[in-house]
Amino acid sequence: MNFIIIGNGVAGITAARLLIQHVPPGSNVLQFTSEPYGYYARPKLPQFLEDNKQTPENMIIYAKDWYSKSNIQLHTNEKIHTIKRKEKKVVSDKGEYEYDKLLLALGASCACPPIPGLELEHAYTLRTLADAIAIRNQLERSQSVAIIGGGLLGIENAIACAKRGIKTTIIEFFPHLLPRQLDPEGSAIFTQLLTNFGVETITDAQVKEILGTSKVENIQLKDGRIIKADLVMTCTGIKPRIELAGKANLDVNQGVIVNDFLETSDPYIFAAGDIAEHNGRVYGIIPPTTDQGRVVAENMVTSRSREYHGSKISTTLKVADLFVTSIGYDPKQEDYPSLKYENKESTEYVKFFHENDRLKAVILLGTKKGIPHIRKMFDEPLSHHRAKLEEIFPGIA
Ligand SMILES: Cc1cc2nc3c(=O)[nH]c(=O)nc-3n(C[C@H](O)[C@H](O)[C@H](O)COP(=O)(O)OP(=O)(O)OC[C@H]3O[C@@H](n4cnc5c(N)ncnc54)[C@H](O)[C@@H]3O)c2cc1C
Repeated sequence: MNFIIIGNGVAGITAARLLIQHVPPGSNVLQFTSEPYGYYARPKLPQFLEDNKQTPENMIIYAKDWYSKSNIQLHTNEKIHTIKRKEKKVVSDKGEYEYDKLLLALGASCACPPIPGLELEHAYTLRTLADAIAIRNQLERSQSVAIIGGGLLGIENAIACAKRGIKTTIIEFFPHLLPRQLDPEGSAIFTQLLTNFGVETITDAQVKEILGTSKVENIQLKDGRIIKADLVMTCTGIKPRIELAGKANLDVNQGVIVNDFLETSDPYIFAAGDIAEHNGRVYGIIPPTTDQGRVVAENMVTSRSREYHGSKISTTLKVADLFVTSIGYDPKQEDYPSLKYENKESTEYVKFFHENDRLKAVILLGTKKGIPHIRKMFDEPLSHHRAKLEEIFPGIA
C-alpha cells in the first residue's frame, strides 16, 4: 500500500513516525514538503531570532538520512499542487504519485490583515526556518521593530528583538495583550512585566498603513500616530492552507473539515494539524496537532479504529522569566465565578474559573506551581481539591 503525507511539520512527522511502525509489510510511506529541510520545531523559531548562536543546521531535529533509515521517502522542495481523487494520485512539478491513503498536513500560513505596505521590503511573517533566517539577517541592521499582533507569537518575537537591544513595539487591536490566554487583570500585570523587559505596548490600536518607498520606514495607526519601525513582523493568527483541498472539491470551511476519524469528505483522504477543522475548530497549536497526528496514523492503517474528540487548549509562553500558562481559557468565561491568588512581591497571579463545581479554565502568571496537579483537576469536582489548592496557593479565595 502507498501512504502519502503532504507536510513535514508536527502533524506530518507524528503520523509518519507511527505509520512506519504499523503499515503492512511492503508498504511505501512518502512524505512531501515544500521546504528544503528535514523536520524542525517551529516553536523554536522565535528563539532563533534572539541572537546568532543557533545555526540553521542545528535547528534540524530529523536530518534527511533519518528519513531514509526510517524507510520514509522524503521529498523536500516539492510542492504538491493537485490531488486527482478519481485516480488517487497527487501531482507536483516533479511527478505524479499514487496513494491508497493520503494525509493532508499542510499546516497554515499567516492570516495577515489587508494592510497597505505589507509588500514592502523588511515586512515579514514568521512561519518557516527560511523566514527566520531572512528576519535574523535584517535584525542585524535594524534599529526599531514593530510587531503587529499581541498574541503568543507576537510576544515571543517581541522579546527576541528586545533581547537584541532593538527598540520594540507591539501593536494590538484588542484592549489587552494575550486576549485568548489572559483575563484583563492578568494581562495588565503581564504588560507591565513586558514593559520592564523593554517592550513597548500599544493596545486598542489599528494599523492604517506601513509607510516607506521601497522599505519599511514607519507605521501609521488609524488614530494618526506614527510608530518608528524599520522592520515589521505581522503575527495576527493563522490561515489554514485549504487551497489544495478546495481545488479537489473536498469540504472546506475555515480549515479542511474532518470527522471524528479525521477523515475528510473523501474517506481515503485525511487531514490533521493546523489545516484541519474538527467540530468547527481549528486549533493552531502543538498539543492538538500531536493528538491528531497519532489518531490519524491509526485510522490510515486500520480504517475507523480510533476516534478523536477534541483537545483541551493549553498554552505556555516559554520566554525569559515570563511564565504564562493558560488552560481552557476563553474570553467568554470572564464572568464565571473564580478563585484568585495574587502575590504582588513575586508577581504571581493565578485564577481558576469554575462553574457548577467544575473547573473550566486556569491562568497562571509568574509561576509554574502545581501545574501537573491542576491538569488533573479538570476531571473531578473542584471541591475535592480546595485543600490542595490552599496548600499550593495560601489564601486563595
Ligand atoms: C514561529 C512559530 C512559533 C510557534 N510556537 C508555538 C508554541 O510555542 N506552542 C504551540 O503549541 N504552538 C506554536 N506554534 C504553532 C505550531 O507550530 C503549529 O500548530 C504546528 O506547527 C502545526 O503543525 P502542522 O504539521 O499542522 O503544520 P506546519 O508545521 O505548518 O507544517 C506544514 C508542512 O506542510 C508543508 N506544505 C505546505 N503546503 C505544501 C504543499 N502544497 N506541498 C508540500 N508540502 C507542503 C510545509 O512545507 C510544512 O512542512 C508556533 C508557530 C510558529 C510559526
